[in-house]
Amino acid sequence: MPAYKIIDHTYDVVVVGAGGAGLRATMGMGQAGFRTACITKVFPTRSHTVAAQGGIGAALGNMADDNWKWHMYDTVKGSDWLGDQDAIEYMCREAVPAVHELEHFGVPFSRTPEGKIYQRPFGGHMSNYGEKPVQRACAAADRTGHAILHTLYQQCLKHSCQFFVEYFALDLIMDEDGSCRGVMAWNLDDGTLHRFRAHKVVLATGGYGRAYFSCTSAHTCTGDGHGLVARAGLPLQDMEFVQFHPTGIYGSGCLITEGARGEGGYLTNSAGERFMERYAPTAKDLASRDVVSRAMTVEIREGRGVGKENDHIFLHLEHLGAETLDLRLPGISETAKIFAGVDVTREPIPVLPTVHYNMGGIPTNIHGEVLRPTETDPDATVPGLMAIGEAACVSVHGANRLGTNSLLDIVVFGRAAAVHTAETLKPSSAHKSLPKGAGDQAVARFDRLRNANGSLTTSEIRLAMQKTMQNDAAVFRTAKTLAEGVDKMNEVAASLSQIKTHDRSTVWNSDLVEALELENLMDCAQATIVSAEARHESRGAHAHEDYPERDDTTWLKHTLAWVENGKVQLDYRPVHTYTLTDEVEYIKPQKRVY
Ligand SMILES: Cc1cc2nc3c(=O)[nH]c(=O)nc-3n(C[C@H](O)[C@H](O)[C@H](O)COP(=O)(O)OP(=O)(O)OC[C@H]3O[C@@H](n4cnc5c(N)ncnc54)[C@H](O)[C@@H]3O)c2cc1C
Repeated sequence: MPAYKIIDHTYDVVVVGAGGAGLRATMGMGQAGFRTACITKVFPTRSHTVAAQGGIGAALGNMADDNWKWHMYDTVKGSDWLGDQDAIEYMCREAVPAVHELEHFGVPFSRTPEGKIYQRPFGGHMSNYGEKPVQRACAAADRTGHAILHTLYQQCLKHSCQFFVEYFALDLIMDEDGSCRGVMAWNLDDGTLHRFRAHKVVLATGGYGRAYFSCTSAHTCTGDGHGLVARAGLPLQDMEFVQFHPTGIYGSGCLITEGARGEGGYLTNSAGERFMERYAPTAKDLASRDVVSRAMTVEIREGRGVGKENDHIFLHLEHLGAETLDLRLPGISETAKIFAGVDVTREPIPVLPTVHYNMGGIPTNIHGEVLRPTETDPDATVPGLMAIGEAACVSVHGANRLGTNSLLDIVVFGRAAAVHTAETLKPSSAHKSLPKGAGDQAVARFDRLRNANGSLTTSEIRLAMQKTMQNDAAVFRTAKTLAEGVDKMNEVAASLSQIKTHDRSTVWNSDLVEALELENLMDCAQATIVSAEARHESRGAHAHEDYPERDDTTWLKHTLAWVENGKVQLDYRPVHTYTLTDEVEYIKPQKRVY
């Protein structure tokens, strides 16, 4: 291996990721006086958060009576009781001040005629413990994520946090005592390698939608933080729970926000029937996402899909009128025109359930501290390591996330990570020297991939992985598809040893980023399908046809998956069946109907 020159940096805190979660944490750390670096592989305002459309959930009660306790109930029910209720209590209670804080930071929310923040209905958000839909999604037209991300970036600049833009985090630096001491990164611009030493590393690297063939996520959503953690010998949690959004545009996968149904849009089958009335008599088109996605899949399977091949469903917005569409849903009107060739004022949009969100991720507590569960302490933490946002699993979303609860999750827990760090660390504290050989493993991996000269291209291996996940870990799963899927994924993962990134006909190696990302995606894909095969029940997004019922006696527990050298080991840890305070009581499992 050639001797790579490594450039050293020392900070109090290094945040990896500049989406909503990373920026909220970076800002909070800067505000608390910490020397803070934020490393990001894309320019901050290009992070996937920018694509969030529909809104951020908070029981402000601007449109009708609302209460954070109802929001908590809906979130627990939405999670199919797999969410940790102490964390859910924390998030729903903090939602109201979090949105007001965003408003004060300068997020340009849409307004009611009285000048309050506009709120729209969203799937699974109900008033009075499930009685009827309530308007809880605080929206900036259908560009809420864009508005939030830009505002948070400006706030970070105000607190003079230092950005390392287009730096790719390779691996964590772990000490012998099990603590995290920093992170290695590669500067995409000039190819230099960097060693960041820090008291805290905060992973805010987003989801891994790109493990699937069709998803609404950006091409950057490759589970890099998950890969870093897996390679550090730490587990991932609840990876079998992958959310399919009911309305991805047929063919392209681009998202049409649930806010479209919130504003009165509805789904029909080939008979023109509003079929959701049969599946969810109360919430109808605004039932929880897993429920709507399954109903659409059943309609298509039973021959009632629309189109030449009867393989999709129609979403109608025509009846809303051009004025409302222009005011409330301008972004998706444009998206439908470009990606489906549809004028939403005249015709329905062809849609299909599409991979959208990862409920699972790096297990943490409500302060964002990463867990390394042991037999005696399922809540033991890893010193120096935090994770937030879609990369993390707190778990507030359990087996199924409610729409608007992720934008909420990223700002609430991004803030919590900074608050906790301010309580437990002094700015500019002295650093221990780094362990011997710190970063060597990361450099060796980098060098191996950089020179990899096997027989398969990165894109060939990636496609095989994406097709396997799409076919065998889909909306509905069976023992047979999952068992086949596990075998196929083992083969695909093994084929990584045949990867080729080094094109000797040029001096450039433009495949290297994608190869590094693919290794991370592969860990995620394997953890997902192995965890799914093991879970013999149906809960939230995990719909197992051979085990159609939820089984609280055996399966009310979080899955832990360790991925090492292409092998996955599973274990489980208890769900927190208690609340944070006495102000609310534990919500006991009930049958989940909408
Ligand atoms: C199309 C779409 C619409 C959505 N709409 C809504 C909505 O209306 N309401 C809602 O609540 N949720 C919505 N969601 C979900 C929500 O937007 C995301 O879950 C959330 O924004 C994720 O934020 P994040 O900060 O965790 O990650 P991201 O925004 O994905 O940011 C990840 C960051 O990590 C960085 N990164 C990753 N890997 C590396 C690496 N190796 N090195 C350096 N940097 C790295 C990236 O550069 C990026 O800055 C939507 C999601 C999608 C895809």
